[in-house]
Amino acid sequence: MKVLFVSSEVAPFAKTGGLADIAGSLPGELRSLGLEISVIMPLYGKINEAKFKVKSTGKTISAQVRDKTVKAKICKTDTVNNVTTYFIKQDSYFKRDQLYGTPQGDYPDNCERFTFFSRAVLEFCKKFDYKPDVIHLNDWQSGLIAVYLKTLYSDDPFFKNTATLITVHNLAYQGIFWAYDMPILNLGWELFSYKYIEFYNNINFLKGGIVFSDIITTVSNKYSKEIQTKEYGCGLEGVLSDRKKDLYGVLNGVDYSIWSPEADKLIAANYSPKDIKNKAVCKKDLQKIYNLPQGPDVPVIGIISRFADQKGFDLIAEVIDKMMALELQLIVLGTGEQKYHDLFAAIGKKYPKKAGIKIAYDNTIAHKIEAGSDFFLMPSRYEPCGLNQIYSLKYGAVPIVRATGGLDDTIINYSPRTKKGTGIKFSKYDSGELMKAIMRALKLYADKKAFTKLVKDDMKLDFSWKMSGRKYIELYKKAIKKAKKR
Ligand code: ADP
Repeated sequence: MKVLFVSSEVAPFAKTGGLADIAGSLPGELRSLGLEISVIMPLYGKINEAKFKVKSTGKTISAQVRDKTVKAKICKTDTVNNVTTYFIKQDSYFKRDQLYGTPQGDYPDNCERFTFFSRAVLEFCKKFDYKPDVIHLNDWQSGLIAVYLKTLYSDDPFFKNTATLITVHNLAYQGIFWAYDMPILNLGWELFSYKYIEFYNNINFLKGGIVFSDIITTVSNKYSKEIQTKEYGCGLEGVLSDRKKDLYGVLNGVDYSIWSPEADKLIAANYSPKDIKNKAVCKKDLQKIYNLPQGPDVPVIGIISRFADQKGFDLIAEVIDKMMALELQLIVLGTGEQKYHDLFAAIGKKYPKKAGIKIAYDNTIAHKIEAGSDFFLMPSRYEPCGLNQIYSLKYGAVPIVRATGGLDDTIINYSPRTKKGTGIKFSKYDSGELMKAIMRALKLYADKKAFTKLVKDDMKLDFSWKMSGRKYIELYKKAIKKAKKR
């Protein structure tokens, strides 16, 4: 089976969130399960071409956007993730510092950039005679590929049996553009209908991907159900429940060659469930980096996150004074919306001995937080899968989470009575509930014996790609069957 995995971000080349981690690890797993698979993404300005040995293939493709024919060079590297990654080099679209825009706003030509990207992927297939059985799309940036295959390219014998599977990593980001951008897409106006890509008088790339793909997946089972409801559906709940027979939840796996305290080269000292004493070394290192008192006994609660409404920081804002009155340290790493920059900066200023705040994107510090924290806090309003709570289990930073989406699927609430469970979970999106969860965590921390056992048990859990990789292969087969019936 031959698959082309299309993603607008892939770790370690370029990353803004969890999608990059998935795109950087799942294809390698699928390859080891016997699939022929390549990855394709834009060549952004921030990608370190020398470091990753990105070379030109010497071939050029061209694709139509609006009434222009736009050319791109195709580059590639075989040096990372055990798969070939192809890059679409179109500097006027992609040679920029950021992927999609700055905190001040999205790039105004994102519609054109990702229309081009989608068409360029199909042109790439033809030019390189890369005939995939399945094109695996991810999020809105590649959603149009499914639309094109069933419209402009539907008579093209090259793609006769090509199936599509789209994975929705976060339904809140849909790629919505005003109707006046329709000519950029070169699709007939009949597509601008509520049945296809129209959405409240706008164009919606993700909707197009959902309507036209053979199979749809989301990144946890719970989220696949939640998004069919008004509360979580972001306006697409109807479209998704119409396709519920083809909608599956496949939990993300993680790459333990990068995220494991036994192998991690970025942390102060390595440790394993057999011997966790070096976790104390990591804790001290983290407290030092954050300029906090280096006490071994004070519980450290870590946060690494995009600063977005989704992540539940308004709950923290409501109870921060109560939280800071407790015997704990709060360590935060994140960037994103200005209001959360302001919130956390104010917390750091008010509680310099108890709260360590870094407003930054920093992979090394992210690893150090996982290793040095006793708890990891994710009070998300919604969470499609969430990776940090899974990394936290492996690093023995006991997750404190709200029971939503992937957080609910991956964490089992700990009961002090039965001593079973893997983390602290609360259900209602409510700051009082969050406070209670933190109190439960501190109580557990005070019971050294039970806490140490939980840390070690968490570290032994396995959320690697093995299971989910096989599930994707099953779903690829389903998609191929559906495509053949067309
Ligand atoms: P999302 O995709 O919603 O951002 P996930 O938990 O699925 O959330 O994935 C987030 C990924 O991005 C994790 O690998 C996390 O470590 C990383 N990350 C998020 N913010 C930062 C940051 N400020 N610095 C370093 N890494 C970050």
